[in-house]
Amino acid sequence: MICPKRTSELLDLHLAPFKDKDPAWEVGVSKIAGRGVVATRSLKRGEIIFRDSPLLIGLAAHEEDALNACSVCLKMLPDTRFMCRQGCGLPVCSLCAKKKQHKSDCDLFKSWAPNEPDVANSVIIRLLCVARAINLSKEQRDLIYCLQANLDNNHRTEVRNAAKCFKHFPTDKKLIEIMNRTVAVLRTNGFDKTTDRTNDNQEFNYRALYPLFGVVNHDCIPNAYYTFEDKTNTMLVRAAVDIPAGFEVTTTYTKLFAGNIARHLFLKMKKGFTCKCSRCSDPTEKGAFISGLYCRDTNCTGLVVPEISGLPHPNWNCLECKQKSTHAQMMKSQDFASGAINAKANSNSLRTLVQYLNEKSDSFIPSSNYVVVDAKMSVLQRLQVGREDCSEELANNTRLRYSRDITQVMDKLGLGDSLLRTQLEELLRREEERRAKRLAAEEAAKQQQQKLAEADKLLEAALAKDQADQADQHQDQVGTSAGTADPGTAPAPLPAAAELA
Ligand SMILES: [Zn+2]
Ligand SMILES: [Zn+2]
Ligand SMILES: [Zn+2]
Ligand SMILES: [Zn+2]
Repeated sequence: MICPKRTSELLDLHLAPFKDKDPAWEVGVSKIAGRGVVATRSLKRGEIIFRDSPLLIGLAAHEEDALNACSVCLKMLPDTRFMCRQGCGLPVCSLCAKKKQHKSDCDLFKSWAPNEPDVANSVIIRLLCVARAINLSKEQRDLIYCLQANLDNNHRTEVRNAAKCFKHFPTDKKLIEIMNRTVAVLRTNGFDKTTDRTNDNQEFNYRALYPLFGVVNHDCIPNAYYTFEDKTNTMLVRAAVDIPAGFEVTTTYTKLFAGNIARHLFLKMKKGFTCKCSRCSDPTEKGAFISGLYCRDTNCTGLVVPEISGLPHPNWNCLECKQKSTHAQMMKSQDFASGAINAKANSNSLRTLVQYLNEKSDSFIPSSNYVVVDAKMSVLQRLQVGREDCSEELANNTRLRYSRDITQVMDKLGLGDSLLRTQLEELLRREEERRAKRLAAEEAAKQQQQKLAEADKLLEAALAKDQADQADQHQDQVGTSAGTADPGTAPAPLPAAAELA
């Protein structure tokens, strides 16, 4: 284990620009794994626990056709003439081309001589984040070495492949070792394509290492979540729930809505540990039944969940009739359901998918199952862009219903605040507001109708009275003079309908 004290000292240096004199955290011995971040005082839900800045950051360069972003400010550039004209092989904007950061990147990559410096090459662009470790101070590099690194067989591949893109790639063992180590640290603690570090289904398109966040341990029900400050890459880590003093601050390395088996496998393979959190120790996942499937016995209405065994292929138990099933048997049900729902999701008709989820899928897969939750999430995402072939009413109802469903799952799991929850609650609030407005408009229209009906009644009554009066008058005239009607006894004017309304 790397000494928490040394890690603290190096982190203090790294975070010095934030000048936080009374930090709410410290690096200490963790109950979860080795060393972690511990709250030094009690924190209220929503409170900022710490800020962190990237020790390393660079373009992720995931997609070959979207490499036109500045390697310094990370902004997208027009897709012509975005490459540095000095021959470093990096995209850079005209403003950043004059900055110190690019001067240092440029000198480094020019000295390695890219094979085709004018062509944007994802391997070269992606390597920059790693190569920047070479020019860090000794303390900054020590901090990288303080972080966990999964030194598996693959961690050398990236640098080895990048070497082929330069004419004079360094052969110095120390330099290569620094880069390989940085790749491994980025994969384990950073935001990177391979880490899938998705707290919240938040997109983070860069490759970056936030060292203090890197020390935060995992829990499948995290008590903290992160956001980024506007216009900077500063990370804000906030309390998702109230955290008592002395409690460890946790985040999640896996998807929130993955089931026990999937999370277990991911953490084992990618992060090299077995999670023993309260959710992982509960076959029902706190009653959220994210992995839950229907019992194979058609007469039984129970849910079947995987045993907590730590095995990749555990047995499954029905909570009702107690029947045992093998993993293979239950995977058949899961694969069938996933296949059916994914086919609808890929069918280009959002309405079909929504109708299927609302009316059909419940007959073969419980609505708590992750494949249903994921499908609902994707529907909400698609509805944010447009309503495709859904009517406005269907779109509005779906937004309301699915954000409620997903919030309920989060509540069952005991998940506190997160960016996702904020988004869903905002969606709910807007939908409820829309609904209230519509109800108010309907109510106003109803009242208007009532008033009009009353006006009509008054009008009718007045007309009837008038006719009766005229008949009386006629009677009188017939009885007295039998002459023409007296113009002085004309009926009073009727109240205008509009006035009554
Ligand atoms: Zn720039
Ligand atoms: Zn350059
Ligand atoms: Zn867990
Ligand atoms: Zn059963």
